[in-house]
Amino acid sequence: MLLEWYDRCARTMPWRGIHDPYRTWVSEIMLQQTRVETVIPYYERFLSRFPSLPDLASADETDVLKHWEGLGYYSRARNLLKGARQVMEQYHGILPKDPVLLRKISGIGPYTAGAIASIAYDVPVPAVDGNVLRVYSRLFGFRESIQLPAVRKELDRIASAVVSAHRPGDYNQAVMDLGAVVCVPGTPDCARCPLSSLCDAFSRGDAPDLPVIPGKAPQKVIHWTVPVIVSGNRTLVRRRTETLLHGLWCFPLLDCPPEDAAALLEKKFCIRAFSSGPSVHVRHVFTHLIWEMEILPLKASPDLPAPPDFSWIRLEDLNTLAFPAAMNAALETAAKIISDKEKSSPSEED
Ligand code: SF4
Repeated sequence: MLLEWYDRCARTMPWRGIHDPYRTWVSEIMLQQTRVETVIPYYERFLSRFPSLPDLASADETDVLKHWEGLGYYSRARNLLKGARQVMEQYHGILPKDPVLLRKISGIGPYTAGAIASIAYDVPVPAVDGNVLRVYSRLFGFRESIQLPAVRKELDRIASAVVSAHRPGDYNQAVMDLGAVVCVPGTPDCARCPLSSLCDAFSRGDAPDLPVIPGKAPQKVIHWTVPVIVSGNRTLVRRRTETLLHGLWCFPLLDCPPEDAAALLEKKFCIRAFSSGPSVHVRHVFTHLIWEMEILPLKASPDLPAPPDFSWIRLEDLNTLAFPAAMNAALETAAKIISDKEKSSPSEED
């Protein structure tokens, strides 16, 4: 029933219809917390730069992060690289079929192991993610929190029991598609569902209330002032060493209100900087965190030395570094400064 529906309605994706464990792996890692439409151009660009697992394993981290830039959750890219090197060392460059071995590779959890084993190797194991939990909790009528270990264990047991033995990869992708386009959060489109005649929640009319997920903790909010300081033809940036956005480049993040930024820059970094335009407020939402940022365009005298851990980078070279999406507004500010400088250059020379 479900496979017939999948054969008619499967979504077209560039990683489908290919039995290549490396490509399945890359696609599944990119798809974590990220929509299919967003992933497609990244997947194609990444695969054209790193077409095989050995290509990825021999790449340097900066290059990998640059090709992940904008996709977010950068630890995925670092773990993918680490995992590729592990596969080269331990499995001669070929991902193992066994989900238990797959789970020992960096960045591969139970869901990804199930997806790779079933899609690339036809191993009849489930791949259970949030979409699948939603579909099964409705289909089989689970009305307790799906975060309870006993409930989760039972859902995993059911998922293992129902996976197709002859087309496990297609079956898992069918459940994923159903959860993504029909059995969606909130109000599922039960009229279009191939499983409605079997569905417990549909027959009882409480599908929109399922699955039961206890309230999430509120996200922590952090306020930053983000100075985009231009000194001559350069701007001040830093490669992060913190766990969040590790290895990516950011403009300075000052823990002070915008009106105190100039004084703090002078005190902390010996940089005297002056406003060069209005500030812009932006908000970036991470999974457990929100950054409320005030982007502050500033100018400083040329030829200043860089403070410890920071680098002065030529404005036209910024696009060679990997920045997280949280820095998009700051990069736009830098791009505007470049364009304003270019416009004003001829008249300055006249
Ligand atoms: Fe989901 Fe409705 Fe289908 Fe049940 S009938 S699986 S609730 S879409």
